[in-house]
Amino acid sequence: MRVELITTGSELLLGQIVNTNSAYMASHLNDIGFDVLYQTTVGDNYDRMKTVIKNALERADIVITTGGLGPTQGDITKYVCAEIMGKTMVTHAESKKRMDDHFREKNIEMTENNSRQVLVPESAHVFINYNGIAPGIVQACDEKVLINLPGPPREMKDMFDRSLKPFLRDKFGIKHVIHSVVLDTFDIGESFLETKIRDLILKQYNPTLALLVRPSGVIIRITAKADSVEEAKQLIQPVEEEIYSRVGQYVYAVDDEPMENVVGRLLAAKKITVSCAESCTGGLLTSRLTDIAGSSEYVTGSIVSYSNLVKVKHLHVPESILAEKGAVSEETARYMAEGVAKCMGTDIGVGITGIAGPGGATEQKPVGLVYISVTGDRGTYVVKNLFSGKREEIKYRATQKALNMIRL
Ligand code: ATP
Ligand code: MG
Repeated sequence: MRVELITTGSELLLGQIVNTNSAYMASHLNDIGFDVLYQTTVGDNYDRMKTVIKNALERADIVITTGGLGPTQGDITKYVCAEIMGKTMVTHAESKKRMDDHFREKNIEMTENNSRQVLVPESAHVFINYNGIAPGIVQACDEKVLINLPGPPREMKDMFDRSLKPFLRDKFGIKHVIHSVVLDTFDIGESFLETKIRDLILKQYNPTLALLVRPSGVIIRITAKADSVEEAKQLIQPVEEEIYSRVGQYVYAVDDEPMENVVGRLLAAKKITVSCAESCTGGLLTSRLTDIAGSSEYVTGSIVSYSNLVKVKHLHVPESILAEKGAVSEETARYMAEGVAKCMGTDIGVGITGIAGPGGATEQKPVGLVYISVTGDRGTYVVKNLFSGKREEIKYRATQKALNMIRL
């Protein structure tokens, strides 16, 4: 089945918004075996939109548009499509009722143009919009299917998953599902990881294995094709187990769960508290830890000790250490971790000091050099790291490493 995606909206052409709708639809259609052959973007211009949709119907079997279903004059997509199909517009009763109820509940006065939103071409199949007002529209003619989805990504995605996917599966008799499990690893390079599981990658057909490098670490995606999700999971399981047996110590999460989640769960379960002394990360580690609801159970407080003055005055890093070894040193990191744990009265203390760049580097201390120290019931230890990337990437990698040290 050949698919063409048409995203509408002049703001897309102007580059004012990023076209995330196309990427979302393309990847999900691909997963269920539809080939997306063209992606087109057109502005809110009646004639140009009509030409684009007509062309698309000639070269594709399924044409999916997003955007332009709203109440304003610039929202023209469904009128263009109705004209192409030779249909007049009628009110969709269920959508109208939902809209009336919505406005009544919210106590908002409805304007005249709102009723435009629930007009659909006669005899069209309709997808209810559970996140907004404008319904989705399906028109079929001569073996071709023309579908209109709303533009706001939240509305589009929900309608795509909830209504369009089942509709397409059903209409085109798609039986199989594609299911993936993602293993998130940290502290192991892509090439080394590949050597550990190369034979599995080479011999796999179903499931297949793929490695992807992310700022958070390397992920292993295991993907299976089967008649049901259950069956796909059964195909994935032995491969997943084999990978665990070889590199399990590097796997910190599945399915892209953030490391701060994993660490938070661990700390809460063990009833352990943590505090951080952050220099080059400027509070990012504490920010990530507190992104998790309920983190007050284990995050006590932190100190952003950017200057030497704060390191000395509040963390009690000896001035002699700063003078002899420098602020970016193993010793300073150690004093920072121990100092903050004492100051905040926590079980674990973390100290981070490094050079995020682009300036501030010397031959002995290059950009990306970051010392991270963790102190706890197993004593204090320090890891010297050399992270690559830009300033933000170095800061992020340092927090990822620190979280991993807390985890272990
Ligand atoms: P509305 O009722 O909000 O007018 P609509 O169906 O008419 O919805 P548009 O007016 O085209 O859709 O877009 C509404 C908003 O949705 C845009 O301002 C934009 O923020 C977002 N949007 C639209 N198309 C895309 C796209 N292709 N990718 C990402 N965001 C989009
Ligand atoms: Mg609109």
